[in-house]
Amino acid sequence: MHSFTVLFIVFFAISLIIKFWLSQRHISHIQEHRQAVPDVFSEKITLEEHQKAADYTSTKVRFGRWPMLYDAALLLLWTFGGGLELLDQSWRTMGLDPIYTGIAVLLSLMLISSILDMPFSIYSTFVIEERFGFNRTTAKIFIIDLLKGAALALVIGTPLIWVVLWLMEGAGEYWWLYTWVVWTTFSLFIAWAYPTWIAPIFNKFSPLEEGETLTRITNLLKRCGFNSNGIFVIDGSRRSSHGNAYFSGFGKNKRIVFFDTLLETLDNDELEAVLAHELGHFKRKHIVKGMLITIASTLVGLWVLAWLMQADWFYHSLGVSTPSTYMALLLFTLVVPVFTFLLNPLMSMFSRKNEFEADAFAAEQTDANNLIRALVNLYKENASTLTPDPLYSAFYDSHPPAPVRIAHLANH
Ligand SMILES: [Zn+2]
Repeated sequence: MHSFTVLFIVFFAISLIIKFWLSQRHISHIQEHRQAVPDVFSEKITLEEHQKAADYTSTKVRFGRWPMLYDAALLLLWTFGGGLELLDQSWRTMGLDPIYTGIAVLLSLMLISSILDMPFSIYSTFVIEERFGFNRTTAKIFIIDLLKGAALALVIGTPLIWVVLWLMEGAGEYWWLYTWVVWTTFSLFIAWAYPTWIAPIFNKFSPLEEGETLTRITNLLKRCGFNSNGIFVIDGSRRSSHGNAYFSGFGKNKRIVFFDTLLETLDNDELEAVLAHELGHFKRKHIVKGMLITIASTLVGLWVLAWLMQADWFYHSLGVSTPSTYMALLLFTLVVPVFTFLLNPLMSMFSRKNEFEADAFAAEQTDANNLIRALVNLYKENASTLTPDPLYSAFYDSHPPAPVRIAHLANH
């Protein structure tokens, strides 16, 4: 057996064991704390609401192990089970140019994978979300979303794959540097185009109506010196009762977006505080930092890929007999997450640090108590657990656990 095969299997097994162990800890911790609402929340959240959150989270985590196991099995089947080899050889018999063979292999893998994953997203939406009263998606919306998503991936993804493979095939030694420039330009373009051109494909955007809410928000934006290209409400309630607010885009093309479900849940003070938190992410440069991290890691990734692409053992040790540019790209994207999984806690830590900073910004610009009330309402409405397992949370959570976050705000 090739030593890279052994290394891959070791990392693969370690990550799977850690994932299962963490999920087990998380469920046990939540169940142990199911009988009492944590002190800080005792006046704001009823025992019944707390238990709903505990059951909702446990159900999701318990169910999440099936796709975890299933995806792990699929990865083994694609590589060592000969799935990729079969796909590659079948397309090769068509005798297409390598770039088109590559596009065909990549697109067919994407199509097959999304079909194979569909049962889980159907179950999660129509059984779990439905059982806890969050689902508002109909079969029709679900199917239309799926088709739109596929069409979008095809229209945007195909030209990108074509350019990348073309560079890999013929741009010489420094193809990875050119590809990096193309990829970076492409992702900046998508970030710019997303609010105006892409998001409206899935949701209806309407400008926030004149009134107290709009006045409050406009004043906050002025106070913080933030220029946006409009404040919008989207019909998130068509799919789910979970609420959210975000802004997207950059440069002059920035939009502030509220889910209609959030406007139903929060009062004006709370909405202002939530938006101030989002502005905090912007003002403290979290978005730019996040982008820089992605851009830098892509450069490292492409450089590693350039090296692996030339090594026959990279293909052979993962069950592929014939080296090619597209197989290198494909194997790389399949295999990398297994090796980077252990970096998860670092990314989560970075993200939680940003959350604290954004909360602090909101507390300066508005009132910490308003944000606390908003958060409590959101935890309640979304049935988010108040008692996550500390280790699970450290590994995965982009946001600090509810009691920690609220204690921080209360000290402000
Ligand atoms: Zn945040």
